[in-house]
Amino acid sequence: MTALIELEGVNKHYGDYHALRDIDLDIRAGEFFSLLGPSGCGKTTLLRAIAGLEDVTSGALRIDGRDMKGVAPNHRPTNMVFQSYAVFPHLTVAENVGFGLRRDPRSRTEKARAVETALEMVGLGGYGKRRAHALSGGQRQRVALARALILEPKVLLLDEPLSALDRLMREQMQLELIRLQRQVGITFILVTHDQEEALVMSDRIAVMFEGEIGQVADPETLYRKPATRRVAQFIGKMNFLDGRLSADGRAVEIAGLGRAGITEEISRGVSSGPVAIGIRPETLAILFEGESAPRREAEGVISEVVYYGDMTYYDVRVDGIEKPLTVSMKNLIGRPVLDVGAPARLGWDERALVLLPR
Ligand code: ATP
Repeated sequence: MTALIELEGVNKHYGDYHALRDIDLDIRAGEFFSLLGPSGCGKTTLLRAIAGLEDVTSGALRIDGRDMKGVAPNHRPTNMVFQSYAVFPHLTVAENVGFGLRRDPRSRTEKARAVETALEMVGLGGYGKRRAHALSGGQRQRVALARALILEPKVLLLDEPLSALDRLMREQMQLELIRLQRQVGITFILVTHDQEEALVMSDRIAVMFEGEIGQVADPETLYRKPATRRVAQFIGKMNFLDGRLSADGRAVEIAGLGRAGITEEISRGVSSGPVAIGIRPETLAILFEGESAPRREAEGVISEVVYYGDMTYYDVRVDGIEKPLTVSMKNLIGRPVLDVGAPARLGWDERALVLLPR
């Protein structure tokens, strides 16, 4: 796929503050792309730079092969949907959505039809005559979306569009945004600090820390093969153990768990010697009566229990491992919730290990 947006060596300074550091990034036509990172990492700055709302200090930014230097936001093929809904409360829904078409040469009837189409796209068909102030948060967000979509941008930029919604509404809107993006086929770039949201919604994600991109990958690769410890910690939960990778890269010695043979795929990109070993909580298991280990077993004692209804998170202390290991277990029928202090047989599997430079 060809890149629709290309950034090459992009830097942004605010006075002494270096907000974007040598950003190289390609975003493809038609993909749902997310910029993910903790507060202050520069994701909004990067989005605003793409929109033309922020000048970059150095580097090149091209959209559709065209250099964007000096191109004003309204002359770029992008449109932004903001976190604060930015809906005019005194106008009707239809007037809000049609706002961007004031200078459009089309007839009134044609514009009204375009407005209705945009409203239907976001699930607000028939809402045109309502006053915007009487809408719920989720509905206002849809109006803002429709107003951006009606201008038929090549790229829709979304700055934390769902962060003000409650959890249920947010989850529903996530699915609707995915559906909408597939339907209209334009490139969506989403800024979010919520890793789950990024995993659920994106074709690819750029994880950012302190103005730099830590990794760009599809959700599954980010989760299963994080490039650094920092990325691994930011995406989901991860236990870290000390380990040592053999010279041939085919075995690791893991503190507290012993020696395990591993495939070349697991050790790829990591040099032999001291390594950090990541283990996701869901790849560990507490073995109940009569259950056998996925591959390997270790003995431990439960030091903490956190019950989530569908899941329980256990911390399990194992001799030779500095920090207790967190294990997540589905609360299946007939499976008791264990107490702190109970002995635990821990199952683990070397195929689920994540190796990272120490
Ligand atoms: P958040 O999720 O909190 O919005 P972010 O990752 O989007 O964070 P940015 O808004 O891009 O972060 O800001 C990156 C850094 O640049 C922050 O440290 C911020 O304080 C700084 N910054 C942003 N805008 C300006 C500005 N106009 N002048 C000076 N510093 C700024």
